[in-house]
Amino acid sequence: MSHQTYRSTRSTTDQTLSFEDAVMTGLASDGGLFVPSTIPVLKSSFITEWKDFSFQELAFNIMRHYVAESEIPNDDLHSLIDKSYSSFRSSAVTPTVPLDEKRGLYLLELFHGPTYAFKDVALQFVGNLFEYFLERRNKLIEDETKRTKITVVGATSGDTGSAAIYGLRGKKDVSVFILYPKGRVSPIQEQQMTTVEDDNVHTLSVNGTFDDCQDIVKELFGDEEFNSKYNIGAVNSINWARILAQMTYYFYSYFQLVKRLEGQDNAIKPDIRFVVPSGNFGDILAGFYAKSMGLPVDKLIIATNENDILDRFLKSGKYERSGEVKATYSPAMDILISSNFERLLWFLIRERVANQNSCEAGAILSSWMKQLKSSGSFTAADAVVKSAREHFGSARVTDAETLQTIRDTYDTHPSKYVLDPHSAIGVKASYDFIKSDSSNGDGRLVKYISLATAHPAKFADVVDRALSSVEGYSFEKDVLPEELKVLAAKKKRVTHVDLAISQRVKEVIAAKLHVH
Ligand SMILES: *Cc1c(COP(=O)(O)O)cnc(C)c1O
Repeated sequence: MSHQTYRSTRSTTDQTLSFEDAVMTGLASDGGLFVPSTIPVLKSSFITEWKDFSFQELAFNIMRHYVAESEIPNDDLHSLIDKSYSSFRSSAVTPTVPLDEKRGLYLLELFHGPTYAFKDVALQFVGNLFEYFLERRNKLIEDETKRTKITVVGATSGDTGSAAIYGLRGKKDVSVFILYPKGRVSPIQEQQMTTVEDDNVHTLSVNGTFDDCQDIVKELFGDEEFNSKYNIGAVNSINWARILAQMTYYFYSYFQLVKRLEGQDNAIKPDIRFVVPSGNFGDILAGFYAKSMGLPVDKLIIATNENDILDRFLKSGKYERSGEVKATYSPAMDILISSNFERLLWFLIRERVANQNSCEAGAILSSWMKQLKSSGSFTAADAVVKSAREHFGSARVTDAETLQTIRDTYDTHPSKYVLDPHSAIGVKASYDFIKSDSSNGDGRLVKYISLATAHPAKFADVVDRALSSVEGYSFEKDVLPEELKVLAAKKKRVTHVDLAISQRVKEVIAAKLHVH
């Protein structure tokens, strides 16, 4: 069905790559991110034809537009998808549930995967994809030293690390090294990362900060000798396959809500908006692709914490990094710059400024990125800002509001729903929009689907801060799932790195892999 190719957002040539190469390479050598050369637009009949599809069937039909059959045949793609989502605890994979139906607010629960966070939806698939491509490359190679192997190295402040480990555990020819700042991830996150028994998984607790860990990983990627020896791979959200896998839940949730509303006999057809707690812009970018493919989404709402570069951009048209990252109650969204935003900008530049010319879009984007690097900011062309505002809205949520939202939701929900701090940011942003809709009074009916990106058990300290004064509330009883309780008793496997320097980490990797 598709002969989709991929290109770098910063490329000024016609050179393109296959899906496999885009996924296995991760980041382009010119510093850009891989994007599909075109966004496929679906035939409008998909709205009725796909309506009753399962999550897995939708995933297949969407992915088929981005991955050529010559790269992954139908049967193989089906089994990759089935395998990836069989690890989820919900048969719906990502169920949509009412949170405050009277006011038109629903939650899309993305935390039913193995590590209880939304990153599982993508990383379960990416792990299987890596394995699939490596198996194929190595099929006829018996000499162990000649096989293509990948060493995935990543830094984490919590969620990415555990989701990557659970996605890659036990995969042949893949080793994974996850660096985390010692004493600075939540106890559950640390338990999840360090209790996995597979031999190919290595967790390194580094005496330093998350930034130190990230700097070390960047150094390893930049070290050509080391990189070519170990074939370093990336699973952070710059990997295109993650964005691809996340598109499915926008379609699935849309259909679930539409079917639910059909039973309610509304006179007016509602507009549907998705509200997305955002950091690196990977989650909501998948929503943008879904919308561009034809999913009738009225708007995508970016919800940020106090690290609000995206909210400021939408209001001012200026993309400007602030001095320092603020440590908030929603740590998975604590970023200075949203790496995936580059993919959106490239697309809007090409459409609105470069007359559909990809090379020209690459040149303009590169000049903006150079400005960002040298002066800390750039101002986007008016046409790009205007277009961004047509697709997106935004809201910024403070720590105090995050706590209040967890508390209010618990108090008012009939079964005392407990939000995690990231999901609470989406819910607060939704209510901000609901309030302004009702004051508009234009007779439109708007429904909000807010993305719940983590299970509250992963952020015990913040949830407790919000709820511990409530009579009868108990974290152990009300929040912590059995499956996570047992982790505390499991044996931990972790390598301590006493100095936060790349040399020490290189030594650990060499020793673990016995490559000399
Ligand atoms: C990663 C993460 C986010 C942010 O997603 P982006 O794709 O970086 O915008 C939000 N919430 C949780 C719990 C996360 O782990």
